Amino acid sequence: MGKISKIVGGILAFFFTGMIVSAQQVDKQVEEFIKYDQRPTKIAYLTFDDGPSIYTEKLLKVLKEKEVPAIFFVMGDSIDIMNHGRGEMLLNKMLEDGHHIGYHTMTHNRDKLYFMGDSPEFFLREMIAVREKVAALTDGYWSTLCRAPYGKRTHFKTGHYNTMARSDFYCIDWNIDSMDWAQSSTGAIYSRVLSELANEKYPDQIVMLFHEKDITADALPSIIDFVRSKGYTFVPYVEGEIIEVLEKK
Ligand SMILES: [Zn+2]
Repeated sequence: MGKISKIVGGILAFFFTGMIVSAQQVDKQVEEFIKYDQRPTKIAYLTFDDGPSIYTEKLLKVLKEKEVPAIFFVMGDSIDIMNHGRGEMLLNKMLEDGHHIGYHTMTHNRDKLYFMGDSPEFFLREMIAVREKVAALTDGYWSTLCRAPYGKRTHFKTGHYNTMARSDFYCIDWNIDSMDWAQSSTGAIYSRVLSELANEKYPDQIVMLFHEKDITADALPSIIDFVRSKGYTFVPYVEGEIIEVLEKK
């Protein structure tokens, strides 16, 4: 399937999943579709999981300086743990800066999400709950985009695929893992991404996984420069778009 038919399919799927779309939203979709059609061949999506956090503002500052759009996969518990309405403020700041918010469950609880009899239903309930939480704290922000904690590729069972296929959620994984959660220095994160991309084995569309860490924010400017030097353009996620997360060639 070509890029255009894919995006048309994505937008149609978005329209026909039972949501009511205002004329203004349709205009926005068409506008975004046109933008998408003009996209370069080599594109990169920057994604940050598990936030918001005490480092969100630092990340947002770097993204603004580098003019890079990102997707924040937020967690309900991360929003709740922040006092004095800070979680709410950060969600709204992400949106004000033009980033996309996707959902990453309420609890990130591996056992409950994947290893219980009712895990597929629990997984869906958690995604619905975090979506409702974000909507309540923003001006009704809503998306179909989600990411399974630890990745659907390794953790989804048949039940998860079936349950999520019946929902209006669309979960994406990643194909470049910065492994920043396990790293203890800025240099290590940078080296990891560098070695991943240096061997030219990656497809034209990359989805990069990061977490909200202090050293990630420090490594980000150099990483962004490097990814751009490899010919990739950072693009925003367009609601309804189907992202192909291809494996290494
Ligand atoms: Zn996570």
